[in-house]
Amino acid sequence: MGFQFQKIDNKESDAKNFVVGGDVEKVKCLIIGSGPAGYTAAIYASRANLSPVLYQGLEPGGQLTTTTEVENFPGYPEGVTGPVMMEDLKAQAERFGADSRWGIVTSVDLSKRPFKAVIDGQKQIEAESLIIATGATAKYLGLESEEKFKGSGVSACATCDGFFYRGKNVAVVGGGDTAAEEATYLAGLCNKVYLIIRKDYMRASKAMIERVERTKNIEVLYEHTTKEIVGSNVVEGAILDHKGTEVRIDIDGFFVAIGHTPQSDLVKEWVKVDEEGYIETLPNTSKTNVPGVFACGDVIDKTYKQAITAAGSGCRAALDAEKFLAE
Ligand code: NDP
Repeated sequence: MGFQFQKIDNKESDAKNFVVGGDVEKVKCLIIGSGPAGYTAAIYASRANLSPVLYQGLEPGGQLTTTTEVENFPGYPEGVTGPVMMEDLKAQAERFGADSRWGIVTSVDLSKRPFKAVIDGQKQIEAESLIIATGATAKYLGLESEEKFKGSGVSACATCDGFFYRGKNVAVVGGGDTAAEEATYLAGLCNKVYLIIRKDYMRASKAMIERVERTKNIEVLYEHTTKEIVGSNVVEGAILDHKGTEVRIDIDGFFVAIGHTPQSDLVKEWVKVDEEGYIETLPNTSKTNVPGVFACGDVIDKTYKQAITAAGSGCRAALDAEKFLAE
């Protein structure tokens, strides 16, 4: 029998353009997102017999699939590439029965349990518990040359990629705490770090500004913006604008640290988010304001944003979901 699409006749769902029709699949635990948080939640939930169903989303494997080498995830003494690590996590979750599927959750209704989710605008799922592991995306400047060098000199993660620029010159863009942290981290590895800031001051906390100022091999370029990143096959330099004058810097790496966008749009009508869109959880738990809905990984984390911290919080979410369902 084919699907019949129609709107549910109630106000909440009307607003969300909910579609129904066909069979509704019922699951104990639905996980949205396929980064380290989502797959770790799936490993724990499947081992707890929750038969989790995980939807991989727009970027299967999450942000790590855009990184080359991951050398700081425990258990990989020789390092591992981001895509391979995500395949490993997926295989581990599937080994215990997690059902990892292609597909995007296009809308949810979390007004009551079971929670409703629509996949790819068609298939409807009802879930006794929901784990949101939708992650965050790094913001980029939006330059064509930046796009061209992603993975060959342009990065949004100093802790992931900084190691490859040991002894070299790099630039970091941004004036917030992340940029200040990335610049000081890179200064410990690199010959020289240019910190490119568009205003005439840094937005970062006082302590971080002082750290930057104390670090001898960081040169802060206030009131500079990036016009273009240049190079033949890899990054060799950047053309900056300083009050109408072009300035060229010679660099091998270009790190963008202008903030992240948490992927909470899908749920923020139901689940409490802070002013930047990060999902709020009760301290030391993965519990959101909606009983039965848990959140983990970068969509709740504005500070650490590491694969290992995301994995740890995915574990918490599955344990919290298991306890919730048992009660
Ligand atoms: P922020 O939003 O604080 O800062 C972003 C920076 O990027 C700003 O300086 C901003 O400039 C600049 N920027 C934004 N868009 C552009 C652009 N198109 N071109 C050039 N520059 C641009 O983001 P962060 O990631 O630094 O921090 C996010 C939150 O996380 C903050 O609350 C921060 O305090 C927190 N954090 C805390 C840490 C800690 O406690 N250890 C570590 C890291 C982050 P402008 O100022 O001109 O808008």
